[in-house]
Amino acid sequence: MKKHNFSAGPCILPQEVFKEASQAILDFNNSGLSILEISHRSADFVSVMEEAQSLALELLGLQDKGYKALFLQGGASMQFLMVAYNLLEKKAAYLNTGTWSSKAIKEAKLFGGVVEVASSKDKNFNYIPKSYSIPEDIDYFHCTSNNTIFGTQMKEFPATSKPLVCDMSSDIFSREMDFSKFDIIYAGAQKNMGPAGTTLVIVKEDVLGKVSREIPSMMDYSTHISKDSMFNTPAVYAVYVSMLTLRWIKSKGGIKAMEELNNKKAELLYSEVDRNPLFKGFAAKEDRSPMNATFNLVDESHKDVFDKMWKDAGVNGLNGHRSVGGYRASMYNALPLESVQVVVDCMKELERKK
Ligand SMILES: *Cc1c(COP(=O)(O)O)cnc(C)c1O
Repeated sequence: MKKHNFSAGPCILPQEVFKEASQAILDFNNSGLSILEISHRSADFVSVMEEAQSLALELLGLQDKGYKALFLQGGASMQFLMVAYNLLEKKAAYLNTGTWSSKAIKEAKLFGGVVEVASSKDKNFNYIPKSYSIPEDIDYFHCTSNNTIFGTQMKEFPATSKPLVCDMSSDIFSREMDFSKFDIIYAGAQKNMGPAGTTLVIVKEDVLGKVSREIPSMMDYSTHISKDSMFNTPAVYAVYVSMLTLRWIKSKGGIKAMEELNNKKAELLYSEVDRNPLFKGFAAKEDRSPMNATFNLVDESHKDVFDKMWKDAGVNGLNGHRSVGGYRASMYNALPLESVQVVVDCMKELERKK
C-alpha cells in the first residue's frame, strides 16, 4: 500500500512522475535504450535538459529577463560556497533563520566579511526576524525563504538595491511571488522538484563578473552558463525526473494551482494543531510554513500511543528534526490533501482516547 509520505527530503513526488520515470529506466522514448545508459550529449538528453531549464524559468515567470537556469551538483550546500565564490568581494549581509542559513554564513566567511543582520537563534529559530536594516556597502544580501527544520517561512522579502540571493530549497514552485526581485535563487531538487542529485540555480547574468579572484571552472557560474549545465556530466536521471515534475506542475495549472492546494493542506493541519488541546505549534503563527509544519505534544507521555496510531494509518516521515523534537509534517506540492486528513484524524483519535 502507498504510504502517506510526509518526509522532509528526499520526499514525495507525483505518482505519475514515478511511473513515467520508472518506464524510462527500461526504455527511454521508445529508443530501445535506458535513460541510464545514454550519453548526456545525445539529442534525447539535450532536449530534456533544455526543457527542464526553460520550464523552470517559465514557471517562475523569468523568461527573457536576463536569467539562466542551471542544473548543478553538490546540493544546496555547494551553493553556500559558490554564491560567495562568485559574488563576495568585500562584504555580504546574511539573515540567519536556521540551520541552513547558519551553514551558508559559515561558508561565506571563508571568502570575505559577513554581517549577520539579524538572527532568530535566541528562540531556537521559531520565528523570522523582521526589523533589521541592510547595510549599503555590501556585495549581496542572502536569505533562506523557508526553514525546513524549524517550519518557518519568510512572507516578505526586504527591499534592497543590492543583489538578492535566496536559498529556496524547500519552497520553490510552491507559492506565487515576484521572482524577478531575486538575482540568484538556488534549490536542492530533493525537497519540491525531483530526486536528490541535482540543484536548480537561477542566475541573473548581470550579477556575475564583479569579483577580482580567480574562480575554479567548476565553481564558476559563468562556466556552467556557457556550457548549458553540461560542462561536466550532469546528473542525467535527476534532471530528467525534475523535468517530469516541472511538466506535472505546469499541467496542473502552474505555481498558482500548487499554492492553492498547499494553502488548503496547511489550513487543515494547523487548524487541528491549534484546536486540539493535546498539541501545540512550534513556529510563531505569522511565520508558519505551509511546506513544513512543526508541532509538539503538550504531554510527551502520549508519544508512544500517537506514534503507533499514525504509523498504523500508513503515515511515513512525521518525526520532527532532532533540533526541534516532536513532529514535522512536510507537505510538499505532490502530497495529496487526503494524506493530511489522515494525520488530522489520528490527532482527533488521540484526543478521544485520552
Ligand atoms: C535541505 C536543505 C539544504 C541542503 O540541501 P543539500 O542539497 O542536502 O545540500 C539547504 N537549504 C535548505 C533550505 C534545505 O531545506
